[in-house]
Amino acid sequence: YAAKRRSSGPVLYAPSIDVASAQTLTLLTELREAVERGELRLYLQPKLALDDGRVIGAEALVRWQHRERGLVPPGEFIPFAEQTGFIRVLTLWVFEEAARHHRRLGAGAAELVLSVNLSTRDLLDPELPLKFAAVLARHRVPAEAFCFEITESAIMDDPARALAILDRLSEMGFQLSIDDFGTGYSSLAYLKRLPVDEIKIDQSFVRSMQSERDDATIVRSTIDLAHNLGLQVVAEGVESAEVWNMLRELGCDQAQGYHMGRPMPVDEFARFVERKPASLPAGARAVALTL
Ligand code: C2E
Ligand code: MG
Ligand code: MG
Ligand code: MG
Repeated sequence: YAAKRRSSGPVLYAPSIDVASAQTLTLLTELREAVERGELRLYLQPKLALDDGRVIGAEALVRWQHRERGLVPPGEFIPFAEQTGFIRVLTLWVFEEAARHHRRLGAGAAELVLSVNLSTRDLLDPELPLKFAAVLARHRVPAEAFCFEITESAIMDDPARALAILDRLSEMGFQLSIDDFGTGYSSLAYLKRLPVDEIKIDQSFVRSMQSERDDATIVRSTIDLAHNLGLQVVAEGVESAEVWNMLRELGCDQAQGYHMGRPMPVDEFARFVERKPASLPAGARAVALTL
């Protein structure tokens, strides 16, 4: 918390803040070393087409393989990285890894789209499109193979600047997605102006939509809204066959969740993609998934 206060206003030298900032410095040093030592891990969680169950891409999610603490989830260092601005380094690392691995995923996986999360700080960096262009060139991958996920709140922090960067990324050929849709407070008028291709319905609505009528209503309305705006719609947090089937009936385009696959190391994801051969009839694959 001290880090947040320090970055956004005058520094107050209260003893408690001194202690906290010493911790902040330690964690920041540790994070820098983590990148240098190669302790960050790229995990991929499959995204599937709801009509036939084929894998169409994955979301890139970062983990920290800590020497003592083991595999540290992003919730324990992403917020901190956002507060300190270190997230810019992290985002670039994740995108670079995603680009590097895209080719390795094999010939059959050439059309897979890898999604990368962006934070507020990324959307305030006017150099971001340039940095991404350099990564594409380095790994000789097309922008179309990647999608950036942005939350509504990240955009609303400084909408004009965010919009300029998003327009540029879209022009370059990247796909854009609104993450955790329904939890922020971006207006529908804004949504219309954003160059987005996809909406991701937040898992808090999806997870229990088979038992909570209000959640089911929100999911159904969001699918209709997205389609009326000409956008693809993804449901995240699909944890059961019931929810998978409901989403299918509602005409949702894609799904992501523990029921189909948890976030996994890249090699495991490569096997996951191969496990679902394209020769299988579409119906059979969809049924196999719901078992
Ligand atoms: P997110 O972008 O909304 O990512 C989805 C999160 O939901 C992931 O958690 C994923 O493991 C989890 N999830 C997926 N399916 C299910 C399910 O069926 N049930 C449940 N209960 N959870 C599911 P994870 O990997 O812990 O990441 C949490 C958040 O941390 C992400 O939310 C994202 O905001 C942030 N994050 C993760 N990696 C990165 C990154 O590389 N960069 C940035 N900026 N943020 C990241
Ligand atoms: Mg995301
Ligand atoms: Mg999300
Ligand atoms: Mg989230």
